[in-house]
Amino acid sequence: METSTCSLKHTFLHSSNNRKKTIALKDQVHTTISCSGCGTCCSIPIVPVTDSDIKRLVKTTGKKASDLVKFYSPSEMEFDEDAEVWIRLKQGKRAMGLRRKNEKCIFLDDTNRCTVYQSRPMTCRTFPYVIDFNDDGSIEVSLNDIVDCKCIKLPDSDLIEVIAYTVSEDQEDDAYFKKIRNWNLKNQPGGAKEFLLWCKL
Ligand code: SF4
Ligand code: SF4
Repeated sequence: METSTCSLKHTFLHSSNNRKKTIALKDQVHTTISCSGCGTCCSIPIVPVTDSDIKRLVKTTGKKASDLVKFYSPSEMEFDEDAEVWIRLKQGKRAMGLRRKNEKCIFLDDTNRCTVYQSRPMTCRTFPYVIDFNDDGSIEVSLNDIVDCKCIKLPDSDLIEVIAYTVSEDQEDDAYFKKIRNWNLKNQPGGAKEFLLWCKL
């Protein structure tokens, strides 16, 4: 599980495994994957989302935000204590994630296909990559191994698309975390419904 305080990533229920495998460093030799479509990453982890993710999904599905998200407790969704994902609600500390049905993401169909692929959350677009932008301009690429990903690894391929998604993901995370910070400053915490309204969802 990635527990960074500056980025939302797929997270596990009760996971204790947060190892990262570095597969490319400053030499720019990239490795990419070919997804086998096993569906594991859409089944086991709870998928954390931002308000930007939900805006896209509301537009695509025509559903209400409250039908798409659930607010998970620290016992369900494992992030660092001080991670910026935590929202102070009147029922306690919660993080916003996609709803689940039959122990998998509500958008995964019976053939392990994502039914909202074009509008899927940013963390789904970048998974299983973890892209780190170093101060010296180099990019570090590693694989998130929170689930047993059955992808096929292909050497020397281009990661431009996933890097672009990571930049968008970081920007959307930052905007969402700012909203959470301002919400958490309120004297009286509201409930989930009020938080969604706060995010204009
Ligand atoms: S939104 Fe799509 S890609 Fe993301 S977890 Fe759900 S089914 Fe998988
Ligand atoms: S776990 Fe890996 S191989 Fe399976 S669907 Fe996710 S990215 Fe693809």
